[in-house]
Amino acid sequence: MNKRKILLNPGPVTLSDRVRASLQKNDLCHRETNFAELLKEVKRKLLEVYELDSGVYDAVVLSGSGTLAVEAMLSSFISDEDKTLVLTNGVYGERMIQMMKLHNKHHDVMKESWQDPVNLIALEELLKKSSYSKLLLVHNETTTGRLNDLKAVLSICEKFNVKVLLDGVSSFGAEEINFDFPALLAVASTANKCIHGITGAAFVISKENALIQSKGNASVLYFDLFSYFSQQENGWCPFTPSVHSIYALSEALDELADQGGWENRKKSYSKISLSIRELLKKKGIETLLEWRDCSSMITSFFLPNNMTYQTLYELFEDENFIIYAGQGDLAKKIFRICNMGDIRSEDLDRLKSVIQDIF
Ligand SMILES: *Cc1c(COP(=O)(O)O)cnc(C)c1O
Repeated sequence: MNKRKILLNPGPVTLSDRVRASLQKNDLCHRETNFAELLKEVKRKLLEVYELDSGVYDAVVLSGSGTLAVEAMLSSFISDEDKTLVLTNGVYGERMIQMMKLHNKHHDVMKESWQDPVNLIALEELLKKSSYSKLLLVHNETTTGRLNDLKAVLSICEKFNVKVLLDGVSSFGAEEINFDFPALLAVASTANKCIHGITGAAFVISKENALIQSKGNASVLYFDLFSYFSQQENGWCPFTPSVHSIYALSEALDELADQGGWENRKKSYSKISLSIRELLKKKGIETLLEWRDCSSMITSFFLPNNMTYQTLYELFEDENFIIYAGQGDLAKKIFRICNMGDIRSEDLDRLKSVIQDIF
């Protein structure tokens, strides 16, 4: 039986042959015009994922993981005059709070427990009586797999003229992102989650005028999106970029487009995650959240009573499937199955038979 290794963790992902082959391309110096062409192409393709107008929007490409893109976004778009509210219901919201502290940026926090949604009524009340200018939100909170209600948060923010900075690290490329709302100021994401590239390339998408206005905000040289933006307009980078991750990102974006873009990717993720949820439900394994609250790319399941995570992990690992643990208080309660990456129908069939055997 084919025992292809399949990563069911939330990034990095199982690569397609096509993306893997792109890593064999020629070495390239980032001061060659060929690199500048490649980078400009990638920026254009990133905007095309959500059909954004390249005269209005810009994509800044960074070399690092998703956290770098989020931190550069906060560092560059939040000025000393801003009053910022962080919404959090998971690890990644809490990470943004940590960044705000380290960067000495003013912020208040509206915190929900990890199992709860953003409290929209409380949010509206709070924005009404205070004077926030920025709001930070995680779109798909990977901690639990909850897809936060971006559209509702944007609608509320729009009423009070609050601009939203979005951690879209685990949603960009496979979930709807409402760029048509003027309240959405910027989105940070990475190549190696729903886009199916390799680790090492990340990006921030924003309106060009916001990037121009961000000049002088960043207090760390490496996080200064304005300097990347101004050089990347011509295809150059201020520092040595991860060239091969950019090759892979370019190929992965072509593959995403060939496969029908983010909407089709969401559909194919949903098909896989639903079939896994249905099968596990038959085995008495329940999900942490209601199905309707889950994103398409990851689901949290309660561990069976008689089994530790480590035991379960090893049973899957023996069959070349890599599942993922819960974080914090959830570490002993749940396991997570993420369905991004090049998962073929034969892989899914094999996964289902492994689940049958384990449970
Ligand atoms: C994975 C993830 C991150 C962090 O990405 P790294 O690539 O590990 O730095 C941030 N936010 C969310 C929502 C994520 O899922």
